[in-house]
Amino acid sequence: MKISIVGAGAMGSLFGGLLAESGNEVTLIDVNDAHIDAVRTQGLRLATDGGDRRVTALKAVRPEDATGFPDLLMVFTKTLHTSAALSGVRHLIGPGVHVLSLQNGLGNVEKIAEFVPLERVLIGVTTWPADMVGPGHVHSHGQGVVRLMAADGVERRFVSQVAEVLTKAGLDCTSDGTVWAAIWEKVAFNAALNSICAVSGCTVDELGRLPDGSRLANEVVTEVLSVALRLGIEVDAAKCRANVASAIDHHRGHKPSMLQDVLAGRRTEVESINGAVVELAGPLNIKLPVTETLLSLVRLAEARSVA
Ligand code: NAD
Repeated sequence: MKISIVGAGAMGSLFGGLLAESGNEVTLIDVNDAHIDAVRTQGLRLATDGGDRRVTALKAVRPEDATGFPDLLMVFTKTLHTSAALSGVRHLIGPGVHVLSLQNGLGNVEKIAEFVPLERVLIGVTTWPADMVGPGHVHSHGQGVVRLMAADGVERRFVSQVAEVLTKAGLDCTSDGTVWAAIWEKVAFNAALNSICAVSGCTVDELGRLPDGSRLANEVVTEVLSVALRLGIEVDAAKCRANVASAIDHHRGHKPSMLQDVLAGRRTEVESINGAVVELAGPLNIKLPVTETLLSLVRLAEARSVA
């Protein structure tokens, strides 16, 4: 498959590297010149449980230098950069191009559908982890899965082809119609752990030092999933609470991305996580006091840290 990935940071490079290794024609597209130059000159250094190696059979370019129409365009920027990134590669979105988002948060379909008809948008969720070590160097340890579907819910051959291509690359992908429940459960998990850590400065395991950490996290999960349930999405609140408890017990020293962003003086994804849920809850007359307070606190932390 001819695959272009716009936003080739930690996740985009992991997916791009694995997809290139399994024989696809991959182009990484990013505005980070140091990363693009490193991949172009030395290949992508990819450290996974499968080994530490360099992937050279892939292209790396800035958006304005990308050419041709891919079969699949994956968007892997942080959600606040989706629209700018798609504007930058508008010239790649030909009549047959499908666009896939496995980004966290809500609102991804709506942003992509401004650039491509809804029937060519694929949406999903992934539990694969990845970190940027430095320019041209990404690592990902542990296992994950991908679940995806057509954004309009219609079963199409192309969607299962994408799932097959991702699975062949070792990314363990299924195409199934219950992706929205998984997306909302991940939003609830992130709304809880990311925003509490971002405003408290705690790593995930440090939330377990006082009962307040788990209590607040559980309140956020309950609030967020109450919106999903009202929208008719069959989320599993008990499973989500268990995942949060397990993360607090086991994710020693882990700084969620929202905390990393605040510490680095970058904007966070809070608007597409807590912010998007609060926005959906308003017209439904659902009150989300903890989620909304955390949203305001993260906004304040961002305003202080972003120069
Ligand atoms: P990242 O910051 O490592 O990568 C994002 C990349 O997008 C950067 O390289 C940046 O330069 C690039 N970018 C920004 N604006 C751009 C533009 N206009 N054009 C082209 N490129 C642009 O982020 P990440 O950790 O890879 O996360 C990407 C998405 O995946 C996020 O939504 C995140 O929540 C989600 N996610 C991350 C993980 C993880 O473990 N890292 C796991 C699951 C989901």
